[in-house]
Parts: sequence; structure tokens; C-alpha cells
Amino acid sequence: MNIQDALKVLGLETKELNFGVSTGNESVLGSGPVIASHSPVDGNLISRCGSANRQDFDFVVAKSREAFAVWRSWPAPARGEVVRAFGNALREKKAALGALVSFEMGKSYQEGLGEVQEMIDICDFAVGLSRQLYGLTIHSERPNHRMFEQWHPLGPVGIITAFNFPVAVWAWNTALAWVCGDTTLWKPSEKVPLCGVACQKIAAEVFKQHHVPEGVSCLIQGDREVGEWIAQNPAIALVSATGSTRMGRQVGQVVAGRLGRSLLELGGNNALIVSEEADLDLAIRAVVFGAVGTAGQRCTSTRRVIIQNKVYDQFVERLQKAYGSIRIGDPLDENNHMGPLIDTQAVDMYLKAIESVKQEGGKALIAGGKLEGEKYASGCYVKPCVMEAKPEYQTVQNETFAPILYLLRYENIQEAIDIQNAVPQGLSSAIFTQNLLESETFLSASGSDCGIANVNLGTSGAEIGGAFGGEKETGGGRESGSDAWKAYMRRQTNTINYGRSIPLAQGIQFDL
Ligand code: NAD
Repeated sequence: MNIQDALKVLGLETKELNFGVSTGNESVLGSGPVIASHSPVDGNLISRCGSANRQDFDFVVAKSREAFAVWRSWPAPARGEVVRAFGNALREKKAALGALVSFEMGKSYQEGLGEVQEMIDICDFAVGLSRQLYGLTIHSERPNHRMFEQWHPLGPVGIITAFNFPVAVWAWNTALAWVCGDTTLWKPSEKVPLCGVACQKIAAEVFKQHHVPEGVSCLIQGDREVGEWIAQNPAIALVSATGSTRMGRQVGQVVAGRLGRSLLELGGNNALIVSEEADLDLAIRAVVFGAVGTAGQRCTSTRRVIIQNKVYDQFVERLQKAYGSIRIGDPLDENNHMGPLIDTQAVDMYLKAIESVKQEGGKALIAGGKLEGEKYASGCYVKPCVMEAKPEYQTVQNETFAPILYLLRYENIQEAIDIQNAVPQGLSSAIFTQNLLESETFLSASGSDCGIANVNLGTSGAEIGGAFGGEKETGGGRESGSDAWKAYMRRQTNTINYGRSIPLAQGIQFDL
């Protein structure tokens, strides 16, 4: 689908200004600065969107609180019905929204569609969840007492998202938050504001049809300052922030300072171990997809491959061959595997990282660099780069959000696991081996220290059914499947005395 058709389907204005502040049906430009959205595909202006100033922000927070007072008393399965309808609306607009994601962010059209599919999947998950927000019953130590716990809606949830998943991360949060009875306020990345407008429009239309209170789904466009207001505001019960570790450290401290709740999904530095007993065909495919997919701009992108000495040379040879067949260009052209980086600043960081590794003693096995020429006029296209490096290099310890892959060597499995864990981040990890002892060691308590640990499967491409997130500097948050919903609710323990005396717990006597 071409981008003009996609924008038409989504009802978006390209020439005019799009709204920057919305509480559902009521959407306004906002009195903050106008945000211009340029496509990394061709460098052209796609659209301009408004943003929120402080007054707009305060208004939206007040609306969100008002809506919460009503929304929390809807039966959860009725809220689930709304999410079901939202998922169906996404099904109808999947091709158009996928194309917009691809054009505004730069990932391939297939990956744009994949992102929208994740939104649909989490809606399905949330619909089921709306009938399963279970609490426990607990046996009381006192006679004629019943004890149980129940989960109640939490309040307005602030959602701060990164540029690289412009729509899916919002849906991971909102689908759960909505069935849990929370209202949401979303600040998309200022690099992809039109995706924010498109999603809000789809939600607002569905919500109107289902008479959902104004303010359940809010949008507040803006830069980091708007994110800071979200972190500071005590009316926002949960701050779910996805982005760099630098951002998460700031948001986490501010929210903790007001004793609020945060859910942090931050940077990764993901490694894949290739054992001498690996099926190399599988490993090569997983490494190429993990390192080159989304031009290395996934939080779960493969950044380090830790290879057993005996298979190192063979692995490098096969990797070089596979990299030779990668096609780079317009991400909406389905023949291409890799699109551009998000902006020229990202290109500079990519070039700087390659230079730094060289200075630290590393060497490029597959040379990277910027792609020049008319086809690449936006200045955001680069070649995927593979470098031989050492685990302790400073640059290797950091996350560079670009297609640079570091090759590291190991001799025994414990050494490989130690290298894998010896970075500050802890998001995703993988091992390729046919040896059960190795894979079980990798998954054991003294194995991978990451939130995600896969066997014979790459580091990127998580399913929504599992809890998603990572440890250490990745922030410790969990989103999406499993019991991640609990972060969006408050737990209450209830004890009922149906006897005629009032026995105290722990056998305490208090004679009056
Ligand atoms: P970023 O940290 O620059 O920005 C992310 C969001 O935070 C944006 O909306 C931005 O406006 C806002 N922000 C920035 N500083 C802030 C502050 N001090 N207070 C409040 N809000 C602030 O990240 P990015 O470049 O958009 O995205 C790339 C990063 O996101 C990578 O590090 C990647 O690993 C990470 N990421 C992590 C996950 C995950 O689930 N773990 C998913 C996607 C992306």
C-alpha cells in the first residue's frame, strides 16, 4: 500500500496540522510547539502535529481522572467488549496503519504489519483477560473468618513510548489498562507523532460507538518535557515508560520521589551464544534477522554474538555470505530487507560507535558506512556492520541503536554465559545448541540474567502471550502477557468475620 492511500484510509491530513491533544471525541491542536514529522525514507515532511502546553496537560489529566471515576465501575467484561471492537477496527485498518508505521519510522512494511498484528493480538488477549482478573482465597487462621484478595482498577496510566515501536507498545499498555478499568494518557515519541494521531483516531471512533466516557483514552503529544510532567504528576497512578536507560533513570527517580508506581522498559544489549553444537543454519538466520531487522533499532536486536572457538571461522564465513544478500532501501518496497535509521543523528551515533570500537582495538569484518546517492537522499541509510571485538570494550558494553554486530569468542559454556551477563543491561538473550546440558545450564539460576532467554531462537520477536521486559538497566518492568496485568491494578486483601466473637490474629489476647 502506498503512503498516500494509507493516510486516506486513516483519515489523516498531510498538508494541514493534525491534533496534538485529545481526550477522545474532543481533539485540539494544543498550545505547545508544532512538531514536524519527516520520513526517514525520503526525508520529506509527512505532516505537522500540535502538542500540549502545561495548561493542555493539566486539562487532560483532569479529564482522565473524571473518566476513571466512571470507567472503573463498568464490569470488566463490558470493558473487554470495547477492546474487542478496538481490535476489530485495527484488523480493518491493518494495512494502512502498517504502511504509516513503515513510512514514518522506517521499518519494513512487513515489520509495520507485524507491529499492528501485535496490537490485534494483545486486544484478543485482553478480551479473555477481562473475564479472568482473578484474586485468591486464603484460609484464615481465625475461626469463622473468610479471607480473600481482589484486584481493583488503579487510576490514570501515563504511557511514554519510544520511536521504534510507534504503535504496538501503546497497545500493549492500553489493551490491558482498559480492561483493568484504568484510563490512559499517551505521549508518543516526538519522532513519530502521526502514528499517535492515527491510533487515537481509531480508538476514539470505537469508543464513541460504545459510549465510553470521554477521557478514557487521551493523547498528549510533545517532547520530553511532556514526559517529565507525566512523571511528576501524583494523579497519574502508574507511569509506563519505554525508551533509553537514560530516560528511564530520570523517570524512575521522579516517580519514586512521589512514591508512585513505574513500569520501565528500557535499553537492551542482547547476546546470542553459538555453541560448537549449534545448528549453524538456524543460528545464522536468527543472527541476521536479529541484527539487521528494523535496522538494528529493536530493543531486542542482537548486538553481540558469542561464538565457540571451534566454529568461529565457519560462522564468520557463513555470516559474510548471508550479509552479502541483504537489500537496503525503501522499506515500503517489500523486496528490501532493511530500511533507514530514524534520523541523521542516529546515523552519526552509528558511525561514532564503529570508530570507537576501532580505537579500542576492534576490527570490521563486514564494513559498515553510510549509503550515498539519490536513492538514499534522506541521509538515514547505512550498511549493516559486523565487527570483531572484546567483551570489555566500552562501546560493546553500551547499546548503540543501529545495525552493528559484535563478534566475541569463548572456550567453555560458563565463560560464554559470563560474557553474556557482563553488561549493564538485561533484556533478551539466546543460545543455539543441540546439547541439553548446555541449554539447561543457560536457563538455570546461574545462567542468563535476562528477562528473556531463548533456546534455538533469536533474541528478537517476542510473543504477546509471555511477560515482556528485562532486568538490571533494562528497568525490571513487565508488559504484555502472563500476569503483567497486575501492574495495572491495585490489590486489596479482605477479611470477613462471620462469627460472634472477634478473635485477634497471632493469638493475641486483649481483655476489656
Ligand atoms: P528515548 O529515551 O530518547 O525516548 C523515549 C521516550 O521518552 C520519548 O517519548 C521521549 O520524548 C521521552 N523522554 C525522553 N526523556 C525523558 C525524560 N527525561 N522524562 C520523560 N520522558 C522522556 O528513546 P528512543 O530513542 O525513542 O527509543 C530507543 C530506546 O528505547 C532504546 O534504548 C531501546 O532499547 C528502548 N526501547 C526499549 C523497549 C523495551 O521494551 N525494553 C522497547 C522499545 C524501545
